[in-house]
Amino acid sequence: MINEIILATSNKHKVKEIKLILKDLSIEILPMTSFSSYPVIIEDGKTFEENASKKAIEAANFFKKWTIADDSGIEVDYLNGAPGIYSARYAGEKCTSYENNKKLLEALKNVPHKKRTAKFKTVIAIASPHSKVSLVDGEIFGTIESCAGTDGFGYDPVFYIPEYGKTLAEFSSEIKNSISHRAKALQKARELIERLMSSSGK
Ligand code: IMP
Repeated sequence: MINEIILATSNKHKVKEIKLILKDLSIEILPMTSFSSYPVIIEDGKTFEENASKKAIEAANFFKKWTIADDSGIEVDYLNGAPGIYSARYAGEKCTSYENNKKLLEALKNVPHKKRTAKFKTVIAIASPHSKVSLVDGEIFGTIESCAGTDGFGYDPVFYIPEYGKTLAEFSSEIKNSISHRAKALQKARELIERLMSSSGK
């Protein structure tokens, strides 16, 4: 029976977004960082899928509970998909989002607008207490433009969505959480969790 699920991330922005998007599921979402001890997980996979699976499995093993993990990042076409799985540390270990955005804008300096296409991708892994993993994903497409907006986190200020004429950091959290890569992946994750809940008798 699933009453609760561990959220295997220490990124407080992801915790906030994931809790908001899944708020009407009748299941308690417990960020692993709210426990007195939790595993330190090294993200050394070669893909978002490998990293998300690794985070979910290691936390599920540690807590012996159902676990959900997110691995995400931004892929820029002109940079052959970089920074991709290295999005968090594009400008170096322990760098800030400001430094990542600055490095990205410099890498695209003088690149014409039509060649600045990019996508955000999220892969969500759900692991059972016995480490059986299911994966779902979500994407959102846009272009990289100069910084605008103060909401969101990470690369949101430079990720421009032409249909809306705004960067992701210019949306309210409600709107971002209904159109984003993470929202799309979590919608699929919610359906999966609901199936697991009904098959496990809850
Ligand atoms: P990881 O999934 O923890 O390895 O790191 C993902 C990195 O990608 C974050 O540190 C952000 O820099 C970036 N990222 C992931 N999702 C978002 C998003 O929704 N908005 C902006 N940046 C994001």
